[in-house]
Amino acid sequence: MAKKTHQRQRWHGPAVMVHGGAGRGQPDLAAGQAEGCEHATAAAWEVLAAGGSALDAVTAAVVLLENHPLFNAGVGSCLTSTGTVEMDASIMDGHRLTAGAVGAVSTIVNPIRLARAIMEDGRHLFLAGAGAEAFARAQGVTTARPEYFITPRQRRRWEEGLGSPGAGTVGAVAIDRTGHVAAATSTGGRTHKLPGRIGDSAIIGAGTYADDAAGAASATGNGEAIILMGLARAAVDRLRDGAHP
Ligand code: ASP
Repeated sequence: MAKKTHQRQRWHGPAVMVHGGAGRGQPDLAAGQAEGCEHATAAAWEVLAAGGSALDAVTAAVVLLENHPLFNAGVGSCLTSTGTVEMDASIMDGHRLTAGAVGAVSTIVNPIRLARAIMEDGRHLFLAGAGAEAFARAQGVTTARPEYFITPRQRRRWEEGLGSPGAGTVGAVAIDRTGHVAAATSTGGRTHKLPGRIGDSAIIGAGTYADDAAGAASATGNGEAIILMGLARAAVDRLRDGAHP
């Protein structure tokens, strides 16, 4: 049987895609979340249209969504079983094949900026917990008291014992004018997760992956399953093999 050959279609940038999370969304939030995604897409597009990098574009999109209280990332993150906030984020540069990731942080206003600072620093790829918070302070990354992150909506969900996936994780992928790609993901994780649980959004290859030679991916959904599948890397490998995005 003749082997089917795939001609991978090269995408010529710039382009950007933003997501605001999987899961059973709350109908009353749908309009606000759609608007938030539109604003984030516009912010990323502004970067790309001005000739900026895919990395700056995905950072801009995710920062905007982390600052938006209707998303489960930054302010508005869901609460752990003990009523605290622990956030995960990661970013990958498909040009240099470098990445940065942060897990279980409680005082970082924009975890994606911290992930990016870890990447730019270059000594390590993934920092978690107290060490990540200390690194953030040393780098001058903006922090806030833990109470800043807890919105009345998430407090109510926690009180009602809603343990479903957080819904409202955020992510973005982009390709810039020069053809470089990047991906970024940020989340508060899952409501009622155990303290110390780190999900896929902090794990390169699971929640986030980017490679100029193939494409970029940002995942959302059940983090434990996504980690087992190495989902973002698997998706990018499919693109490399010629699959349509
Ligand atoms: N993947 C995230 C996590 O498990 C949650 C989500 O995407 O809704 O932490």
